[in-house]
Amino acid sequence: MNLKNRILSLAAGLMILASIATWAAYQQLSDNLIERWGKQVAEIQVRYDSARLLQSLEREIGLARQMARSQALLALARTPDGPLIKAAAIGEMESFRNNFRDHSYFVAFLSNSHYYYNNTSNDYQGQQFRYTLDPNEPDDAWFYRLIDEGRDFHLNVNPDTNLGVTKLWIDVLMRNKENVIVGMVGTGLNLDDFLKDIVDTGQQGITTLFVDLNGAIQLYRDRNYIDFATIIKPEGQKSTIDLLFDSADDFEEMTRTLKYSRDELEQKIAERTTDLHSLARVDSLTGLCNRRSLDEILEVEIQRASRRNAGFGVMWLDIDHFKAINDSLGHQTGDEVLCQAALWLQYSLRPYDQPGRWGGDEFMVVLSPCDHNILRFLSERLRQTFERESANGNIPITVSVGAYLCQPGDSAKTILHEADQALYQAKARGRNTVFIANKDHQIPG
Ligand code: GH3
Ligand code: MG
Repeated sequence: MNLKNRILSLAAGLMILASIATWAAYQQLSDNLIERWGKQVAEIQVRYDSARLLQSLEREIGLARQMARSQALLALARTPDGPLIKAAAIGEMESFRNNFRDHSYFVAFLSNSHYYYNNTSNDYQGQQFRYTLDPNEPDDAWFYRLIDEGRDFHLNVNPDTNLGVTKLWIDVLMRNKENVIVGMVGTGLNLDDFLKDIVDTGQQGITTLFVDLNGAIQLYRDRNYIDFATIIKPEGQKSTIDLLFDSADDFEEMTRTLKYSRDELEQKIAERTTDLHSLARVDSLTGLCNRRSLDEILEVEIQRASRRNAGFGVMWLDIDHFKAINDSLGHQTGDEVLCQAALWLQYSLRPYDQPGRWGGDEFMVVLSPCDHNILRFLSERLRQTFERESANGNIPITVSVGAYLCQPGDSAKTILHEADQALYQAKARGRNTVFIANKDHQIPG
């Protein structure tokens, strides 16, 4: 080969080598790019899915935690046989039922294993006490297992054979003031809706699933993989996520990510619970409307009175010598008296009257429609109910009532001032008394 040909061959060889190197570098670059993009898309999807899951669950979990702290339920845990306390507790459960997304709840007490439940269609109205859980019954094992484990909050996919439903249950432990576990409350979310809305997004190449701390699959679009009733299964029999992974490294990385998501969930729930607490319109002790809610009711009635040129009634009630009850029998008994007072109010009024707890031992009722005779009649009936009902128990409880017939055009300030003055008059006249105010002239009741 002459020199010219040799140089040409060398140049061709170098060119081929350079092309191969460029091709390999390009190939690696594009592989990296594809992997990076793929990872990014998957990460975005995971964040999006967990944000959507959090959004749906946070509110429910926050509400369930609030329910677990409800004084009316804790009172029933302490005194399971008190009929009035039971009625107040059921009233509270129902008020939570209205707030839960699924309009269902359960409450189970540890001391007597009583299980209360009501569902979306209110099938168990008046029969919220469903049955007694049995520690030896496999279907009831979840309750005793969760209490043994002392886990304050737990999500669980579990079919309930007694009630014929399969749900994602949110379980929250109830603890008394001494931090001792006294029961469990929670709500269920319909699993089918949940799978459709959150898990089964139909995104190609990406699979969303949720697992518990031990890796047992809790939510997955294919129901066959879901590990139902995880809590009561022995290790080894669970349908766990490692079944879906090819490599141990992938699984470990997944576990690390999981821990991070759980911490994030815990933190968000804590924030949300505080928000809900201050925003709630229900008085947590008695289950009645709270002061914030009463303010709103009053505003609505003021507007309506102006529109229709018709008045409405406001009663302001304050329990007589309530401090003495607290001081002699303890704050806890004082709380029970407040719950009983709330019940007496509810059953002495018409279904459309709106009672609420203003604060402390003060209650307010907004009566609409109302006239002077109705106002006097219902005020007197309430006073008598307290006197009569408490005579059946061992604590005398009487109430003073100040009432005012609100006129169209009255402001909230005027109304509250008039009712407060009337209450002051009722107290001044010896308590256990009704006093009806009138803006222009006061008529003793
Ligand atoms: P009066 O006849 O003048 O109304 O006398 P009273 O002793 O009832 O006096 P007052 O209405 O001012 O007392 C209210 C008491 O209610 C004071 C406070 O310690 C107590 N209290 C406020 N909130 C609660 C509560 O949630 N539970 C209990 N047990 N007591 C409360
Ligand atoms: Mg009082």
